[in-house]
Amino acid sequence: MTDRRTPPRLADQLYHDRLLPAETRAVRAEVRAFAAEHVAPLASDLGQLEEDPARFPFELVKAMGERGLLGIPFGTADGGRGLGQPMAATAVTIEELAYHSSGVAAIYDVHCILAGHALRHGSPRLRDRYLRPLLTGDAIGAFATTEPDASTDLSAAAVRTVASRDGDHWVIDGRKRFISNAPVAAFVVALCRTGDALAEIVVDLDADGVTVGPPDRKLGNRAQLTADIAFNQVRVPLANTVGEPGRGLRIALATLTRGRIGIAASGVGIAQAAFDEAVHHLSRRRAFGKRLGEFQHWQFLMADRATELENARNLYLKAALNLDDGVAFPEPEAAMAKLYATRLAVDLARDAVQALGGYGFLRELAADGSTFTPERLYRDAKVSEIYEGTNEIQRWIVAREIFGRDITG
Ligand SMILES: Cc1cc2nc3c(=O)[nH]c(=O)nc-3n(C[C@H](O)[C@H](O)[C@H](O)COP(=O)(O)OP(=O)(O)OC[C@H]3O[C@@H](n4cnc5c(N)ncnc54)[C@H](O)[C@@H]3O)c2cc1C
Repeated sequence: MTDRRTPPRLADQLYHDRLLPAETRAVRAEVRAFAAEHVAPLASDLGQLEEDPARFPFELVKAMGERGLLGIPFGTADGGRGLGQPMAATAVTIEELAYHSSGVAAIYDVHCILAGHALRHGSPRLRDRYLRPLLTGDAIGAFATTEPDASTDLSAAAVRTVASRDGDHWVIDGRKRFISNAPVAAFVVALCRTGDALAEIVVDLDADGVTVGPPDRKLGNRAQLTADIAFNQVRVPLANTVGEPGRGLRIALATLTRGRIGIAASGVGIAQAAFDEAVHHLSRRRAFGKRLGEFQHWQFLMADRATELENARNLYLKAALNLDDGVAFPEPEAAMAKLYATRLAVDLARDAVQALGGYGFLRELAADGSTFTPERLYRDAKVSEIYEGTNEIQRWIVAREIFGRDITG
């Protein structure tokens, strides 16, 4: 299956990255060219076909490793690029990947930001063993906090995956759910309860007692494979603990703050793709003797959406640049960016389906085999309002800053 045409890219016509560091702009241009060459041709199949580890884009991940794209978030000591503003560069990378495939952007986000960033808190031995192969694309990483009965609430009382100490090993029992990349990953950084506290522990997925389930069947983002991971008496060296054992939740939350900036950037990529599809169609399709774009309804809607896109992009970049500037935990900005951009992605994907009318609802037109992108964008966009902290939780984070924790809890 191939999309019948690629609409013109409108981002640069309306949005000017002039105020961004030159380095960030250069990374955007580099990844845009890479994504057009390597992601765009795969995007339709990856987005339509059922989840299947045999179809996971290993070669694409390897190509990203070879070009150094997986090293964008990291310092040279870990084999990364050592950029001055790594989070901003990472976020624009994710936007550019998501413009073609939000599933590929999600693979990158989990691999680099979640698994990769969590490992940055680890010992030199852990980073050498697990982080370096991530950067080359030789191993795929996963990151697990969610369980069948715990996700939004990650307190020690809610987390049921337990690591018990036995000499110089942990023995882990429990189950994680919805874990991205699990069916193809070499290891997972898993949040486990150790007594009253939580620890992040790296577990090899081929270790005795680990079972990775079959991939879940999803509405969208099908390139992103998710599955359960069950731990049954899994013995893991204590040395696989990331940071101090009691700091697991803090590491997980700091990691998720970065992840949210990534999901915001991915939302902007989806929203921009939907915007371009809609404008392309509205500029050509005729009704009542006019092009649809001649009707003020569509002009005003698209003007509003362009304004929102500008805001969404600026929000994620502000959160990213704050992080790069040393603000350790820019939680409200990251929450606002994620909330705003992912809602916009869903809104704009719906607008694009509507603007294309019946064609917007189609995957493929039987009469001539034409294929259409908006239905995929519509299916893909929704999950970004759910994962890496639901949008209700993002509102809670912002509300905490407004009212204070004594009122919001
Ligand atoms: C495609 C996909 C990929 C994923 N990848 C990963 C991964 O790699 N690693 C991982 O650990 N997890 C992953 N997840 C899990 C994801 O992060 C969770 O699904 C998400 O955090 C929501 O948790 P839940 O599904 O348990 O919903 P719940 O926590 O049960 O929440 C259900 C609803 O209740 C709302 N809610 C909860 N508490 C409150 C409250 N206090 N006030 C108001 N509303 C509230 C939520 O916002 C949500 O709308 C993935 C999920 C999906 C679908």
